[in-house]
Amino acid sequence: MELTKYSIGVGDRFAHQAKAQLLAIIKAEDAGVLITPVWNKSFREHQIIKSRPGETRREVDSAVKSLKWKHPYFVDADHVGFKTIDHFINSCDFYTLDVADFIGKKTDDQKIKSFVYKNRSFCGTLDIPGLTEKVEINETMIFKAAEKFLFAVEEAGKVYRHLLEKKGNNNFVVEISMDETDDPQTPIELLFILSAIAYEEIPVQTIAPKFSGRFNKGVDYVGDVAKFSKEFEEDVAIIKYAVEKFHLPKNLKLSVHSGSDKFSIYKSINTTIKKYDAGVHLKTAGTTWLEELIGLASCEGEGLQIAKEIYRIAYDRYDELCGPYKTVIDIDKKKLPDPKQVDIWSGEKYASTLRHNKSNKEYNLNFRQLLHVGYKVASEMGDRYLNALDKYEDIIAKNVIENLYDRHIKKIYF
Ligand SMILES: [Zn+2]
Repeated sequence: MELTKYSIGVGDRFAHQAKAQLLAIIKAEDAGVLITPVWNKSFREHQIIKSRPGETRREVDSAVKSLKWKHPYFVDADHVGFKTIDHFINSCDFYTLDVADFIGKKTDDQKIKSFVYKNRSFCGTLDIPGLTEKVEINETMIFKAAEKFLFAVEEAGKVYRHLLEKKGNNNFVVEISMDETDDPQTPIELLFILSAIAYEEIPVQTIAPKFSGRFNKGVDYVGDVAKFSKEFEEDVAIIKYAVEKFHLPKNLKLSVHSGSDKFSIYKSINTTIKKYDAGVHLKTAGTTWLEELIGLASCEGEGLQIAKEIYRIAYDRYDELCGPYKTVIDIDKKKLPDPKQVDIWSGEKYASTLRHNKSNKEYNLNFRQLLHVGYKVASEMGDRYLNALDKYEDIIAKNVIENLYDRHIKKIYF
């Protein structure tokens, strides 16, 4: 199973928006750009909502069928490891093996030594096309990379072989993610990570490193854009080089996690993938659910009532809801509007405070982030929330399509 050059990871927390999301992809196809949609949902998300991967699969298959989508599509077991993988065996065909927790744990000395030995030909001056400077590699650098990453890659190997046994060869796509950690990996570290992946014989098609800067959920990038651009370009160059050197899958590409709403870096991603004729996987961060809220709020009446209630409860349960996400959100509590005030807002005011449009003065990224992690509240509303999604389907779909197509797809892939 091969992932095409351009792909996008979309989330559909309540299994109601797959059709709208696919319509955005079809719009791109009609405009001449083929993108493979990948519906991602992590174990954490399933646990919080009490949903199962099979529900995502059913929703996605039915959207594909009703819109007669003829191209590939996938369902992604996002951020899985040995403990969680078995929940996803039957319903998924894309696996994001998350090894971030194992970075820095050391494997056997013997294995480290042998890794350094196998990579000794890289010692000296490397001239990698695309890198602005030549790089000097020595054995100590390879040794350090092995100490830091080899164990993590071995762990990915174990999970991969487990999958292979359960699902059979060539029946799924593998991504390896290392983004949920504190230190960004350098391009040279990436080179040796890819070497280790090749020795583990994992047919990796996408890799998600940790880039520098903050990739908070649902809001724009925070960091040095020029630094990110250089890093991203170097990673693309390294991947190209590594694919040749290590005989990795030819379509191997970068995956950008928490990729939704990172508007300030889209230009450099777009320029770089065009320059290198490279692919990219942009994994969005479940922000589709915020489009549901925007749609509900703009409908006034019961829809707006639900949106207000969700905010009030999320505000009161701040610590509980933000806890699991504390490394990927930055909320200034003082800038959160008082729920009493929100209660008298119009639907338009609610929608424009939430919608990620920086040129609108009402936009409030604190409000947006709190609601982003507040989906548990909506899931507790059960049928009341789900019935509202059905009732206001058209206006919600319009928001979902516009968000995905205009704010994301058009900027990255065109
Ligand atoms: Zn991630």
